Amino acid sequence: MDSKRIGIMGGTFDPIHFGHLVIANEVLDQYHMEKIIFIPAGNPPHKKDSKASSIDRYIMTNLATLSNDKFEVSNIELIKKEKSYTINTLLVLREIYKDAEIYFITGADAIIELPNWYEFKSIIKLCKFIAVTRPDYNTHEIKEKIQSIIDIYQGQIELLKVPMLQISSTEIRNRIKNNRTAKYLLPEVVEQYIVKNNLYGDNNE
Ligand code: NAP
Repeated sequence: MDSKRIGIMGGTFDPIHFGHLVIANEVLDQYHMEKIIFIPAGNPPHKKDSKASSIDRYIMTNLATLSNDKFEVSNIELIKKEKSYTINTLLVLREIYKDAEIYFITGADAIIELPNWYEFKSIIKLCKFIAVTRPDYNTHEIKEKIQSIIDIYQGQIELLKVPMLQISSTEIRNRIKNNRTAKYLLPEVVEQYIVKNNLYGDNNE
């Protein structure tokens, strides 16, 4: 019997939007995944603090994924006091999903940085990567990069073209800060949560 496939959507999700959800759904469908686990980053090792609190990002991710029973949200990185590295998350997931194939979903642009991730040599043995990109993206350069990483580290990195919407969390935060609408860029319930809790206003930047 084929082993189960689990997709991991790691990200800051500050806030989560339809771009993330479209990517997750496309991977779920094309790879016949058992489920996709969204893992909001706690204290990203490689950058400054997020704009919304961990708990707000966790709640928004839950609200956004509520209607899909194949989407799950994990607080594994949020509950950590220390910095959360992907290697530690994968080691825990490997214990839970012993026989599953674990796919880490990331933007294609991030692939270039992969070898710089903490303990990348071990990471690539614990999971496969799916690098998502827009259909119109020039993939030649990224394919070469992927091949060079595979040549060195022997892992599996696949490029997947997704009808990814041009939505970004930064754009949404800027719109909200400037009292502009973010309607149709993210689930309505997440937008309501942002408004109700006054996230991303002047005082939060
Ligand atoms: P990020 O700041 O949330 O995202 C970076 C870019 O990719 C943004 O343009 C973002 O769009 C987009 N994006 C976010 N999640 C995505 C996903 N799952 N698939 C496709 N595109 C996505 O996140 P990040 O800092 O790149 O981190 C992503 C994941 O990699 C996290 O789980 C993080 O912990 C891990 N990571 C680990 C290490 C390490 O262990 N040393 C280093 C780097 C990254 P939006 O801004 O619109 O969300």
